[in-house]
This record gives sequence, C-alpha cells and structure tokens, in this order.
Amino acid sequence: RNWFIGIDGGGTKTEAAICDSSGSVQGRAAGDGSNPLSRPWPEVEETLRALVGEVCRQAGADPGEVQGLFLGMAGADRPEVRTRVEEAFRPSWGERLHIDNDALAALYAGTWGAPGIVLIAGTGSIAYAVTADGQRHRAGGWGYLLGDEGSGFDLGRQAVISVLRAWDGRGEPTELSELVTGHFGIDRPDQLIARVYGTSNPRKMLAEASVLVESAARAGDAVAARLIKQAAASLLELAESCRARAGSDLPVVLAGGMLAADTLLRRCLLESARFEVRRPQAAPVAGCLAAAMMRAGLPMDEQVRAGL
Ligand code: BGC
Repeated sequence: RNWFIGIDGGGTKTEAAICDSSGSVQGRAAGDGSNPLSRPWPEVEETLRALVGEVCRQAGADPGEVQGLFLGMAGADRPEVRTRVEEAFRPSWGERLHIDNDALAALYAGTWGAPGIVLIAGTGSIAYAVTADGQRHRAGGWGYLLGDEGSGFDLGRQAVISVLRAWDGRGEPTELSELVTGHFGIDRPDQLIARVYGTSNPRKMLAEASVLVESAARAGDAVAARLIKQAAASLLELAESCRARAGSDLPVVLAGGMLAADTLLRRCLLESARFEVRRPQAAPVAGCLAAAMMRAGLPMDEQVRAGL
C-alpha cells in the first residue's frame, strides 16, 4: 500500500493525517504549534516526529512505505527554518520530503491544486497566490515582529494595548478591561506586564486573547468593534495586493481560525470585500495530503477529493 502524510504546522497547533493512494484517511493526530519563531526548534522537531509516528501507527503503515511527506509550515519561507527541517528529515526521507509554506496547503484545501489566492488569518496572517502559470505571489506573512496584520496575534495584542491605554487614561474605557484581566487571572491591568513578558510564548498568549475581542464586540463594545474593523481592513489590504499582482479573476479562499464560519471578523471582511470568496473544501491538513499526492504525480480526482 502507498501512503502519504500531510502535516499542517501553524503557530499554535500542528495537525497531521495519513492517507492511502485512493485518498482514504487512515489516521489523524494533533500537537502543539510548529512555527520555530514561537517554540524552540528541538520541541518543534519532537512534535513533528511524534505526529509522523502516531499517524503511521494508526494506519499500520511502515514509514518506509510512505511515498510522500508534505510539511506545510508557517515560517517555511525562512531559510533557517527550512535548513532545520532539511537537516532533521531529509536524511531518512530523501526525495519523499516536501516543505512549503502553510499557505500553500490552505490554498490547496480550497482549490485542490488549481490556481487561486488564499487569505489566512490564524495566529499569523498572509495572502498567498498561485497563478495558472505557476507563479507565486505573497503579501504579508512577515511574522509577528514585522507583519501579521489582522491576525489573531495582532488582534489579541491590540486588545491588551487598548486595556492598558484605558488604564492609563489615554484610551476609551472598554469592556475588554474586565475580559482581559479575567482571562489572565489578574486583578489589575498593570499586572499584564509580568504575564506577557514572563511567558516563553508571548505570540501564542496574545493570539489567544483575540477571542475576547469577539465577545466584547458582540456585547456592543465600541473599542472591540473598532479593532475588528481595523483587522478586517488589514486583511483586505493583503488580499487586494495579491489580487493586483496575481489576477483579480482568481478565487479567494479564506482560511485560519480567525476567519472561521461565523466570526465577526469574517463578516466584517465580507461586507467590504470586492471579490467573491470560496469556502475551503476541506481542512488545511487535507490540503497537505493533496500536495503530498500531487508531488508524487497522483491526480486529484473526485474519489480522492471525497476521501480527503
Ligand atoms: C508566518 C507565515 C504564515 C502565516 C500564516 C505568519 O506568521 O510568517 O509563514 O504563512 O503566518 O500562518
């Protein structure tokens, strides 16, 4: 039996799946995030190895029988990340190993390999396009220090900033103050400094606070509503910049937890979008499986798609 493994490595979560050449999924597993910007590489490597082992075990597959391993990773565009993955996995996987940006996997989960644009808002954000002639274009995705506008990290960070501004008397009072202090288990906003600077993974910590913005906005908080509007505008800018270069006729797939079916952020984005969006046909990890199969030359026919 021929096996394919797909791994979708995001900032806060990594998902793995294994399928056979008919697209029948025989194992799934999930672990912590695998962006080496947020976690030390040895931990990321450990997560990836454990997931590969786990899905093989579930499927009863010998890793030697696996025809393709596709790693879609947030951060894969950085040479140092790529080198680490290469060093860890190339020796045993050889030509069967494929590493690419997580955005490609999310795009494939919406187009099954056809040209298109994907707009991701998860822990990080990016717009990524593949054109009919195979060219790639990106906007954003420069990580939390240099980009990730409109992402969970960005929104969560803005929420915490709004609370601190209100505490200083520089910003409007907001429901977020109570939500944020409650979430962090502290009495006063000035205790946030110890929490945020004291954690080994501030990126994840702040991204998790983004859900509070959704709750506050739903409860009618004006500050939270404004933050969501700003995030939506940033994401639209990413998508538009990609469309301008890659082609405005390409379908736009929305992906990532921040743009899940019923979020206010998604609604707000759709209200001002000047393009049609396409729902992902499957989870990004299925896009990774599709990519693994396509790299091995297998067609994405109806049966395979239905299985994934
Ligand atoms: C990473 C990108 C990734 C994006 C979406 C960003 O933080 O730098 O590589 O594609 O998040 O997950």
